[in-house]
Amino acid sequence: MTVHLIHGFNVSDGGKNSVGKLRPYLLSRYQMHDYGWTGLIRLRITNARAVKDIGPLVEPGDVLVAHSNGAMICWSLAQEHSDKLAGIILINPALRRDTLWPDDLPVMCIYNSTDWVVSLGRMWSRLVSLGGLNFHGWGAAGRYGFTRKQPHVKNWDSAKDEISLPAQGHSGLFKMPQVEDWGKLIGKMSLRWERTYKMAIKYLVVHISDSPKGRGDTAKDIHLWHKQRGWDGIGYNAVITGTAQLEQGRPDYWQGAHVRDFDKDGKGDNSDSLGICIITNTEPDEDQLRVCEGWLLAKLADYPRAEVVGHRDLDSRKTCPNMDVPAWWGTLVKNHIF
Ligand SMILES: [Zn+2]
Repeated sequence: MTVHLIHGFNVSDGGKNSVGKLRPYLLSRYQMHDYGWTGLIRLRITNARAVKDIGPLVEPGDVLVAHSNGAMICWSLAQEHSDKLAGIILINPALRRDTLWPDDLPVMCIYNSTDWVVSLGRMWSRLVSLGGLNFHGWGAAGRYGFTRKQPHVKNWDSAKDEISLPAQGHSGLFKMPQVEDWGKLIGKMSLRWERTYKMAIKYLVVHISDSPKGRGDTAKDIHLWHKQRGWDGIGYNAVITGTAQLEQGRPDYWQGAHVRDFDKDGKGDNSDSLGICIITNTEPDEDQLRVCEGWLLAKLADYPRAEVVGHRDLDSRKTCPNMDVPAWWGTLVKNHIF
């Protein structure tokens, strides 16, 4: 899996002093794409050529990281390769604010509310359009973020210090010390996308431990039991204790061990599901269910297509988790969440 770095318009250094500055912080393989220096008039042709050159290099699970005009190239690549891309990170994109992205493709837009360059670009693009040239959709998303409501598109203002060190203007994020901070964030984000890309989680599965609630079992205990069975440790991705504490189990990107497709109906397997285990040998209580609801909602933000089920819904030989999970979840969704 590769992170493709795509620079902006009007750079003569192949992007070394913009997106290239992120290289030390990336946690995966990367490739710089230099589409050369270009004047405004030739830009559309140059962009089209870059799309043609980079397209065949995109492999399943790859991430695109682009600055400014590079976002235009990303948008075209996304039209053709959305099924292959794990995600796109755009820094001050010179794209229209109302740009739409393919469904379910994660997009992180790091805009900057002090970026006047993209505003200038937008005006330019309008002026040139008036001249009859029908210019290339440049816009001010780099200053305002994307405004169309798409749950898989996130906007962050790098001029504010909510997440990382504030940056100024169109390229301020690439300056020290900001670049160190933002670079680490971008590196982590793309690694996470790459790891989850291939998993295509279809089910979030609720289990119970079938052990007494009052015994005080924790994720650590389950970890030891599962190790004794010769597994790689805890098979669940999360645990809710008898006192309704949420504990971390196996990380999401590491295939779990909690459900098997015994009836071979193609429904439910460790390869396409995440599992949470509630400590009880009767039914989960209200406090435990409330915590479970929080975990499920958080996971649904990462895997919006996943279905919430109980173990027994995937394996008819099981009674786990002693409750009708789809009915419970269905009522919650209907009454409280949406
Ligand atoms: Zn179970």
